[in-house]
Amino acid sequence: MPGSTDAQAQLPAIDGWFTVDDDGVVHLIAGKCTQCATYVFPPRENNCPNPACSGEDLEQVPLSRRGTLWSYTENRYPPPAPYPATDPFVPFAIAAVELADEGLIILGKVVDGTLAADLKVGMEMELTTMPLYTDDDGFVRTVHAWRIAS
Ligand SMILES: [Zn+2]
Repeated sequence: MPGSTDAQAQLPAIDGWFTVDDDGVVHLIAGKCTQCATYVFPPRENNCPNPACSGEDLEQVPLSRRGTLWSYTENRYPPPAPYPATDPFVPFAIAAVELADEGLIILGKVVDGTLAADLKVGMEMELTTMPLYTDDDGFVRTVHAWRIAS
């Protein structure tokens, strides 16, 4: 964040998708309907996703930090612009992780060094963040990511 004493300050690539507390623990943020308790990610403040509910008030709540690997794939080609890609391109894995308590499946990159061969459906995954790119002002822009739970 601006004013940070870190050598290279970090900012989320997209505002509002996760928070990092004072201990460095990251939580994804979801919208939760105040009428029917349905969750939605990415978060929004109205328009409940449950077709049987007319809820228009979604509170912003933190999600579970761990879930079960539901599916995964490996990107072997650079993603199209505007998504930033490393040059030279380095393959990376993408995980779909199921959060049992919330009934959500959250897509995210898998941390560097973990590829599809390291993953297995059903394994426990844990939320973290990883750098995505450095912006024109020198801020490291981060995204939520999954790693194999320790
Ligand atoms: Zn609802």
